[in-house]
Amino acid sequence: MCDRCPMSTVPIFAVGFLLLTISATSEDSTTRMKLYWGYKLVRAFPRSQADVKNLFRIKHVDNLTVDMWRLPSRPGSSVDMAVSPRDFLKLKRLLSSCTIAYKVQISDIQAVINRQNDERNDSFSWHRTYHTFEQIVSHMKHINQTTKIVDMKSIGKSFENRDLFIMQIHADKQTKKPLVFINCGIHAREWISPATCMYVIDQIVSLYGKDTYVTDMLNKVDLTILPVLNVDGYVYSWSKERLWRKNRSFNKGSNCIGTDLNRNWQFKWGGVGASEDPCAGDYRGASPMSEKEVQSINRFLKSEVRRIAGYLDVHSYSQLWMIPWACDTTKVKDYDELIRVSEAVTKSIKSAGFNTKYEFGAPSRLLYLCTGTLQDYVYGSLGVKYSFTVELRDKGHFGFLLPSEYIEPTAKELFEGLKTMIKEISVLTMKQQQ
Ligand SMILES: [Zn+2]
Repeated sequence: MCDRCPMSTVPIFAVGFLLLTISATSEDSTTRMKLYWGYKLVRAFPRSQADVKNLFRIKHVDNLTVDMWRLPSRPGSSVDMAVSPRDFLKLKRLLSSCTIAYKVQISDIQAVINRQNDERNDSFSWHRTYHTFEQIVSHMKHINQTTKIVDMKSIGKSFENRDLFIMQIHADKQTKKPLVFINCGIHAREWISPATCMYVIDQIVSLYGKDTYVTDMLNKVDLTILPVLNVDGYVYSWSKERLWRKNRSFNKGSNCIGTDLNRNWQFKWGGVGASEDPCAGDYRGASPMSEKEVQSINRFLKSEVRRIAGYLDVHSYSQLWMIPWACDTTKVKDYDELIRVSEAVTKSIKSAGFNTKYEFGAPSRLLYLCTGTLQDYVYGSLGVKYSFTVELRDKGHFGFLLPSEYIEPTAKELFEGLKTMIKEISVLTMKQQQ
């Protein structure tokens, strides 16, 4: 640790990783959208444990607001931080005084947001552009009306009373087969996630009966897909603040809004990597399962738990395929088997046509520790052995602002990975269950 580094005197709080959201943005007077002119995404390169510690401390430096897009984890793993132009100067000074190397990954975040907005206007294919929640629901309804093998239904309501719509895909509605459950959009700003779920739904329904592989797959398993889990947050990321992450529930005794829906589950709730500060981006909520969205999904999962054979939680970004645990560094009892499946999945992602490399392993090794996550809950509390989380493209070039031209390639390779996941699960377990 460098002596002159101001971060060395800032304590790391035991409650975990305070994730601050950007607040000092300007507003467009007509749309009331927050604007990020001149905001920068800074990528830092920690080389030692001391660098990692100092990067954690950055979040607690007074009068500095940093939105961590990619948290510190280990030496050699880069850290992405979004800052205002004013805070950029402070951050630069801090990093230099600690001799932590960095580069500016995005020099104007608003320009990249505008690029996403412009692309929206000149695209004709449904999957070549991002869509609002309304558009997603209307597309789901269209598929529901025109396809026999799906059933669209609401499994409950969000805090702001929106429906949590799922798509149940089943070749034969009379026979209940082993079920694979997939959810997208638990974090509002990760737009590539709902876009990928929608692509997967479209692919399955259009290929069933035409493609042998997909037809065989649906003859063995049912799929349930929840394309937008954090529906209020997603709507807010379109209407007010593009980089919003949490849901939109009120917090008693605080002016800050929202709980991180991936820190609220009753599995090691309130431990490391889940803040107790309602203003933090990774706020755990007032109590385990306090959020309406979490309660709705939990009800559904519990009602189907006996037949859930596989589970996938879809996030962005970093290109990672992860197994439990996120909450600590111990190996799960199914570690070897889950690693075997993960290796096969990432191989098929790589050979999907774009040579995209995904790393695989436990979040505690690849990312950072965090508690109260949905994946750990599904594995640890519901006992679903094949429980995975994926972080989609990219590796931080655009981060959460992945241009829409990458939707189809990203979704296509994830679909290949998903097919492999289901095939690998079915080798061992489906036959026993049927
Ligand atoms: Zn996420």
